[in-house]
Parts: sequence; structure tokens; C-alpha cells
Amino acid sequence: MEDCYKCGVPLGMGIHWTIGNEIQRCIWESPESMPEVDIQSGESFAYYCCEQHAMEATEEYLLQVGATAQWSDVRPIETCACCGRDFDTTKWHKVLVLYQERGSILINPEMIHIDYVARFCADCVPCS
Ligand SMILES: [Zn+2]
Ligand SMILES: [Zn+2]
Repeated sequence: MEDCYKCGVPLGMGIHWTIGNEIQRCIWESPESMPEVDIQSGESFAYYCCEQHAMEATEEYLLQVGATAQWSDVRPIETCACCGRDFDTTKWHKVLVLYQERGSILINPEMIHIDYVARFCADCVPCS
């Protein structure tokens, strides 16, 4: 059982928010098609009882790495949250992700919602 990283409330089997990193690549079969997100790896590193606490922690994390939240979409070109330059999202890059999940965080919780808080170009945040 994990506790909220912000307030220490125990997280049960209900809804919680998770912050994690993913290494992603966005793929378009054709200009009209919906993008596919290819995920090389992902790791969750913090868990929260409510959206408020997750958002506060997200802001603190971004401040630490000198980035600003972009709440980015899945587009061929997105803005790097660190350097503010546009980059090609079809190349592997790191993404700060906020998940809303249900169930125990230890045994594969069910994903309810996912937000891409910030995308980082490989110059600012290397993938390896
Ligand atoms: Zn909390
Ligand atoms: Zn950058």
C-alpha cells in the first residue's frame, strides 16, 4: 500500500493520480489518420490522492527541471517544455505524464485518463 506523496493519506483501491515518465514516439500512417503513440518505456514515480495534490507536485517537479507545463497534444511538432523550441515528435523523446487511475497501484491499475504534461526534446532531456 502506498500513501499520497503530498499529504500521506493511504491510497486504497479507488481513484488516484500518478506521475510518470514515458519515452514516446508519435506515428502517423497518413496525414489524415489518428496518431499512434509508440511507448518504448515508462515508469511511474509518484502517487497522489487527488488531482489537486498531483497538480501541485507536477508544478514542483517542472520547476526543479526548469520546465513549464505544455499540456501537449499528440502532434508531429510539439514545443519542448525546457527550451521552448519546436521539435519532431516522431523521434524518441521523454514525456512527463499524469495518469488518472483506479485500483491498486501495485497490481496494474486501470487507466481512466492520461494527460501529457510536458514533452522534452532529446537535447534537453536525453532518452537514455
Ligand atoms: Zn494527497
Ligand atoms: Zn528542449
